[in-house]
Amino acid sequence: MIELVMNFLRKSIPASIIIAIFSGIIAGLLFGLSVPMALASQAERVVSYEEVAAQSMVQEALRLAGRSGEEGLSYITLPGIQKYDGPRFAETMPIETREAWLSWMSRNRPHDDPVFLEQRWQWAQDLVNSSELKRPEEVRAFLLAPREHFVRAVNRGREYEDTWLPIGYGATITDPDVVSMMTSTIKVQPGDKVLEIGTGSGYQAAILSFLTKDVYTIEIIRPLYIETDALLRDLERNYPSYSVINRKLGDGYYGWEEFAPFDKIIVTCAIDHIPPPLLRQLSPGGIMVLPLGPPNRQYIMEVVKNVDEEGNIILTRRDVYNGLSVRFIPFRDERGTSYSTPVSDDD
Ligand code: SAH
Repeated sequence: MIELVMNFLRKSIPASIIIAIFSGIIAGLLFGLSVPMALASQAERVVSYEEVAAQSMVQEALRLAGRSGEEGLSYITLPGIQKYDGPRFAETMPIETREAWLSWMSRNRPHDDPVFLEQRWQWAQDLVNSSELKRPEEVRAFLLAPREHFVRAVNRGREYEDTWLPIGYGATITDPDVVSMMTSTIKVQPGDKVLEIGTGSGYQAAILSFLTKDVYTIEIIRPLYIETDALLRDLERNYPSYSVINRKLGDGYYGWEEFAPFDKIIVTCAIDHIPPPLLRQLSPGGIMVLPLGPPNRQYIMEVVKNVDEEGNIILTRRDVYNGLSVRFIPFRDERGTSYSTPVSDDD
């Protein structure tokens, strides 16, 4: 029967028409597929991850701030709701032997990848041997903060290399030795209120969350802020200490007045002077660490603020690397202009 119909069709309909009909069916199929594909890509374009995150952040910020309107949109805050005791958790971790540490980690940190654990252990030993990690508290914080979560996907495989790495938007995750040196310098005590300028990847803030329950961090690049904020939120489930990291999108030059004074301040972008607002927001007896110098070369400076009986501020400075220079990305204002005076690179 089918054959008869086919023969009839073949005789009565010219081949070109049959080809046209088949082409139509194929085109229809392709079009049918392409419509949902176009919609999908459009959906992605219109409701991008960033936009969704920005939207939810804004709403969250407004909700937490208990207000609505323009005022709340000028910056975004995420005050930590619970005060998870990162230092107390860290204290229970044995660091005397690799085996004891690994066994504690497998019980307390089942989500951490064993391959990275091995690398992290070795890395921490190197940092202790080079005296960049000083107190056991800092060693513990380093052993608890997985750098693999903060190095961006494009640098997979380089998580534990002893180097800085780009994280997009012209920013970097700092070299581990400089992170450890700066962290050791401010000698964070549990309960210290610590302010970080330059959230970047979030790695330094993550380390701080194992040293105290009160961490504040400010980032000026909006998409980077959103990306890192979303990352920290996501990681909070397995790393509850990250919930104590209060985040702000804004210019860190002016510090974070509402929460001042801070016992410790860590600046992770290069500047050729100490920002006066940060000095003002540092508690008497407080320590600030910052990469001080022109854009092409800085020295890691420890600045201790003391106030004498007459109320005079006395600053004590120390170059923690004793003459060795480092290079950080510039401390910039909202227009992107560096706060440091540019100098030529050939000196
Ligand atoms: N602490 C970061 C290092 C980031 S690099 C980490 O652990 O990954 C320095 C960061 O400082 C960049 O993200 C840069 O955008 C930020 N920054 C530069 N100027 C700033 C400013 N005025 N206020 C806040 N952050 C600033």
